[in-house]
Amino acid sequence: MSFSGEVKQEIVAHRLQRSCCRHAAAYGIACFARNFDEKGLLLYTEQLCIAEYAQWVFGQIGVEGHIHQKGSASSPAYEFEISNPEEMQKLKNLFGLEEGICFRINSKNICCSRCTGAFLGAAFLCSGTMSDPNKDYHLEFTSSRQMLAKDLEGILAEHEFSPKRTLRKGTAVIYIKASEKIEDLLTLMGATSSSLELMNVKVYRDIRNKANRITNCETANIDKTVAANLKSIQAIRYLQQSGVWELQSDSLRYAGDLRLQWPDLSLSQLAEKFQPPISKSGLNHRLRKLESIAATLQERSSHEQQDS
Ligand SMILES: [Zn+2]
Repeated sequence: MSFSGEVKQEIVAHRLQRSCCRHAAAYGIACFARNFDEKGLLLYTEQLCIAEYAQWVFGQIGVEGHIHQKGSASSPAYEFEISNPEEMQKLKNLFGLEEGICFRINSKNICCSRCTGAFLGAAFLCSGTMSDPNKDYHLEFTSSRQMLAKDLEGILAEHEFSPKRTLRKGTAVIYIKASEKIEDLLTLMGATSSSLELMNVKVYRDIRNKANRITNCETANIDKTVAANLKSIQAIRYLQQSGVWELQSDSLRYAGDLRLQWPDLSLSQLAEKFQPPISKSGLNHRLRKLESIAATLQERSSHEQQDS
């Protein structure tokens, strides 16, 4: 399966806890589906799980739709369709489209902080692709509706994803190139494993490039460095995303910032970057400390999710 396909499977498997977020996801599908007009809504996809997700998410807001199998046995495709006039009326009322269907993103349909991720995830299911990170860092959304694409770009820009816009054969393309921004967006959309995989590929690539240049470093050593660095980086990112980074001590934040700045350096190399330089074990101690704080937080938040 392509990397894009994996991201989409992960988005589909990510359960949306709140009803406002399910509403936002349904709205995202409506905006970015192949057709959405007075006659009905039609989503076309090659992945059955996406059609089923659409059916589930609309079911959650009380709107019924049907899945039809299309394509051939060798290349199957699926349509998710809402065409019953009563169901369409419900949909228009829910999304505030009583005056008629218009392709601007109405922010009233995106309420809580997690709604944005649900909306963007749904948009990605309908219109997104991402290249294999081993080849390139590139994530994009496409739409033939120019104003909709502009609004999407606005939402992404507002959340500091640094989107760019271009035209490809009359279709608007909104894309993101910076790997860190792509990682954050994948996390926000619920594709956390894909985000980690991207980070993994990137750190591995950086370290391998450097090792190839300097010495004929053994692969086993590289793997060990990559694994250790990634563990720290993930913990630091997690603390930043959870909004508790500023609460950490200056010395821990300094160590974390330097680790992010030089993700590919070994511990002893990184220790030399400190002003004044510190010992390898001193640095190791600080990074382990950050990892343990992140692990405690993560555990607590997974318990809270189970309880709710
Ligand atoms: Zn929400």
